[in-house]
Amino acid sequence: MTAKKPAAPPIKKIAPAEPSYNPFATTQQQFDRIAGMLGLDGPTRDLLRNPLREYHFSIPVRMDKGGIRVFRGFRVQHNDARGPCKGGIRFHPMETVDTIRALAMLMTWKCSVVDIPLGGAKGGIVCNPHQLSAGEIERLCRGWVRQIVRDIGPNLDVPAPDVMTNPQNMLWMLDEYEMIAGGRYPGFITGKPVSVGGSLGRTQATGYMVVLMVREALKELNLKPENTTASIQGFGNVARYAVELYHKIGGKVISVSSWDPADDKTFCCRKKSGIRFDELKSISDPFGTINRSKAQDLGYEILPGEAWLEQEADILIPAAVENQLTVDTVPKIHNRVKLVAEGANGPTTPEGDKLLEKRRIFMIPDILCNAGGVTCSYFEQVQGNLNYYWEEKEVFDKLDSKMTNAFHAVVDVARKQGLPTRDAAYVLAVNRVARACKDRGWC
Ligand code: NAD
Repeated sequence: MTAKKPAAPPIKKIAPAEPSYNPFATTQQQFDRIAGMLGLDGPTRDLLRNPLREYHFSIPVRMDKGGIRVFRGFRVQHNDARGPCKGGIRFHPMETVDTIRALAMLMTWKCSVVDIPLGGAKGGIVCNPHQLSAGEIERLCRGWVRQIVRDIGPNLDVPAPDVMTNPQNMLWMLDEYEMIAGGRYPGFITGKPVSVGGSLGRTQATGYMVVLMVREALKELNLKPENTTASIQGFGNVARYAVELYHKIGGKVISVSSWDPADDKTFCCRKKSGIRFDELKSISDPFGTINRSKAQDLGYEILPGEAWLEQEADILIPAAVENQLTVDTVPKIHNRVKLVAEGANGPTTPEGDKLLEKRRIFMIPDILCNAGGVTCSYFEQVQGNLNYYWEEKEVFDKLDSKMTNAFHAVVDVARKQGLPTRDAAYVLAVNRVARACKDRGWC
């Protein structure tokens, strides 16, 4: 009997096109500024402003209709002085190596700011998974592993899901690696299904930890969560769990926004008396698109997409896409807003950041705020390597302690050195990696 291949679960819809600027150049400029503040010497700067290693390869895949199609694949390892590299694999038709380089570098800083013993990497394949069958995606996943197998592994570089890749893809990659390596190595990859070595809590980790960062920031601002309101951009993985936990700690979310790929429109669902999480979840698809007309029937006001940042709320949580808080949009932010928690990666432009700083709005920067995801992935890697899996409570308790410690370390640097919290997070992160490189004698 021929074994039936499991059907791949639905994959996220294609994200908006990549920005036209060079994301790697922007990331390097940001690094150069921090390197200047830290007074890093020339060799250390040269080492850290570029990836240590990068791999470009071709992946031949047999297509369902016959014939072979060759896809381009990448893996960029930015730095592994503090431990094995860690970072996702993206499937995107517009993937560029510069995006991957930028994201690999950001992973190095993210792992460092939360003080987990990992470096940064990112990978990708130029492809549109929506135009591929489950079988073709499986062969692509296995092909990616075959091309890079000598240079990744549980002690070298540990991949994870990212844009348009999912737990099933990770399992196919793990299976291919184990076939080649001849053993069971669950620590090879993270973001696996929980039934095959995934960590409990990974799905909720990023959103929940965004809220724990909010909890700590509110203490700094002398505010009680139960006396605060929040407005959130997005209703996907990060935003949903952020809404859920923020409600549990007593806060009230008054609006969430969403994007409908059917007509490419963004919109904001508002209920001043407070949104009901289960109600909105029940009328959303798995990609975080809320059904507008059903929301209206349930008494939500439907406002233009940008309205989420104009709300009279204490907290803004951008948890959707990049470049949302800009020189044009920050002036529209309500005077009541005291805190921005960056659930998304790169939601604030450098100019937007300056304006927020001027308004003395407390900023929890992305490399800290959404690092609960990679921290939980690290826990998955540890559990896999030990082949011993923790209860969910143990995962959340450990996440809370790691993230809370990181928050206070950043605030401490900000206070002592008179820096904005974003700069403080980078100073802390870059300094730790530079120290590790120096101690190893690399520079
Ligand atoms: P997702 O695809 O699950 O959800 C994205 C949400 O944003 C959806 O509700 C979508 O409708 C909405 N959206 C998209 N474009 C929008 C727009 N222009 N305006 C308003 N809403 C819009 O994605 P996610 O996993 O929740 O990730 C969100 C952000 O968080 C991304 O920047 C991602 O890189 C970052 N992040 C995610 C994780 C994680 O563990 N999922 C970890 C770290 C960082």
